[in-house]
Amino acid sequence: MIYFDNSATTACLREASEAAAEYMREQYFNPAAAYAPAVKAERDLSSARAVVAGEMGAEPGELVFTSCGTESNNTALFGSLAAMRGKGRVIVSSTEHPSVYEAAIELRERGYDVVFAPVDITGAVSLEALKGLLTPSTRLVSIMHVNNESGAVNDVNAVFSLVKRVSPECLVHSDGVQAFMKEAPVRCDLYSVSGHKLHAPKGVGALMIKKGVRVKPYLVGGGQENGMRSGTSNMPGIMAFSAAVSDFAAHRAEYRASMLAVKKRLYKNLSLIRDVKLNGPDPDLGAAHILNMSFMGVRGEVLLNALSEKGLLVSTGSACASHKRGKNRILNAMGVTGDRQDGAIRFSFSHFNTVEEADIAAGMIEEQVNLLRRFRRR
Ligand code: PLP
Repeated sequence: MIYFDNSATTACLREASEAAAEYMREQYFNPAAAYAPAVKAERDLSSARAVVAGEMGAEPGELVFTSCGTESNNTALFGSLAAMRGKGRVIVSSTEHPSVYEAAIELRERGYDVVFAPVDITGAVSLEALKGLLTPSTRLVSIMHVNNESGAVNDVNAVFSLVKRVSPECLVHSDGVQAFMKEAPVRCDLYSVSGHKLHAPKGVGALMIKKGVRVKPYLVGGGQENGMRSGTSNMPGIMAFSAAVSDFAAHRAEYRASMLAVKKRLYKNLSLIRDVKLNGPDPDLGAAHILNMSFMGVRGEVLLNALSEKGLLVSTGSACASHKRGKNRILNAMGVTGDRQDGAIRFSFSHFNTVEEADIAAGMIEEQVNLLRRFRRR
């Protein structure tokens, strides 16, 4: 099997699964309890917080562990606005993941003036357009760091400077689920990450809340996570997340180079097929782990199924979007429509992938594309 769907989820790293097992079977104590083994668990929790926060360029006290990227995004949007008086404008990019996009739709129903910032053909938010949407009453701007379908990297630092210039009180959130550890940390008020995109298990994420930023907790109860997220700490998940982050930090350059090599090799091979188009930024400019290409005259879902039967796992890039034809919101926003949208496939890599896999995959894709195009012509 060749797994090229690492933006959907990743294989758990051995060190991460061992850490999770240890905290389930031996160090299973509740860090909020008072006896010695629990005190150790509390210390370990603090160390894990310092590791994950440090990689975001944040202080440990600014990090709240959550259950996933979706929870982090929902908390960032709903929680920060709930802590403000009155309603105003909320700007999110038109290519946000549903955990931000649908939250924005819900905010509109609650009376906020929600507007969607347009993106260019590569999927990156246009700073000029964003500037035109900013008003002094804008409360929150949420622009994702790396787009999960196109691999476009937004300049969140520039967004932050622009927003604060126009409206110093306005908060800037960024969904960093696809970017964390793979891109350099950015300046913002709120930053969301998720463990399972980074070789930790599913069920753990985090939200960075910059000191001084007020967020109304979504879960209230025992007051864990400094009152920001009640519920007994998910020690197995958190310790595994910290292990995965530490591993990535120790091999960052090597992992990035390895993912980029696979992406560029696959891109080069696939570019030799007739009538293919790149959706997203130039492979050297986008995220190292995401490549989106259209095979004209072929339906993405049909190609996906044919490849899956051969053992190559990819995505149509719209796992969370509508499966109806022509309804990929992200590609629509980029201006990728019609046949080009129908034939789009997203490939996403991890450091476990190899260039040999890219060669084998390209061969399979070429064969299936040729076959499907012949069928279509009949
Ligand atoms: N944001 C982005 C950009 C994503 O790609 C995903 C997952 O696909 C999420 C948020 C949601 O993360 P989780 O699956 O941890 O809820």
